[in-house]
Amino acid sequence: MITKTGKLVMADLEVQTVRKNIKNIHIGVYPPNGRVRVAAPLRTTDETIRLIVISKIPWIRKQRDKFTRQERETHREYVTGESHYFMGRRYLLNIVQGSYRASVQLNGMKRMDMYVSPHLNNEDRARIMERFYRIELNRSLDSLVQKWEGKLGVHANEVRIKKMKTKWGSANIKAKRIWFNLELAKKSPNCISYVVVHELAHLIEKNHNKRFKGIIESVMPQWRQYRDELNSFIPGDEDWNYGTENIERFLKL
Ligand SMILES: [Zn+2]
Repeated sequence: MITKTGKLVMADLEVQTVRKNIKNIHIGVYPPNGRVRVAAPLRTTDETIRLIVISKIPWIRKQRDKFTRQERETHREYVTGESHYFMGRRYLLNIVQGSYRASVQLNGMKRMDMYVSPHLNNEDRARIMERFYRIELNRSLDSLVQKWEGKLGVHANEVRIKKMKTKWGSANIKAKRIWFNLELAKKSPNCISYVVVHELAHLIEKNHNKRFKGIIESVMPQWRQYRDELNSFIPGDEDWNYGTENIERFLKL
């Protein structure tokens, strides 16, 4: 396939361009700093790309704001008033101190109460939150994996939640084992479903090829939307790299 890469500078915006044998123009904004990339059919002029980018500037800004906001989200103190994400929603943490057994409980749609005894420090609170995420993610994966296994006609022998730095999920095809990133607990049920479908689909097709996309599309036609939502924020504040097959870096398709 012929690909021509280039660069367009527009005001304060630098746009990477890739021209290749495709039918439509795609604009992407990528973390961590909101890099803008346009993929366009071979014969598209710079002018056309400029016009399209200009028409998308409000959207590009929005995506970039999201990254900066979420950049700030990565450092946590576990104090009252701090934002924490759960199942795609933002909650304000409320620390309740007393002689409680440590737990986290959602309080309506906006508040997350963490019950702790006063001597517990920041790290302890982080652990309590992590346990909450793990239990809840496990619960939703239980039903989601079962649901999508049925639709795809596959079965995973083992489903596990792991802390992963560079991927949302992974599949070991031979062992029929799928792993999910604990960070998914912060994502919406649709995003989680997409990762479930993606990993289960790997039990049928190893590579991110046409067949693989077809499998996903057959049960989840709107997967692109979920994938984009998923990748609009990189979990944790570690170094995330793109790359290597077999491991799922960002579940790019
Ligand atoms: Zn994959």
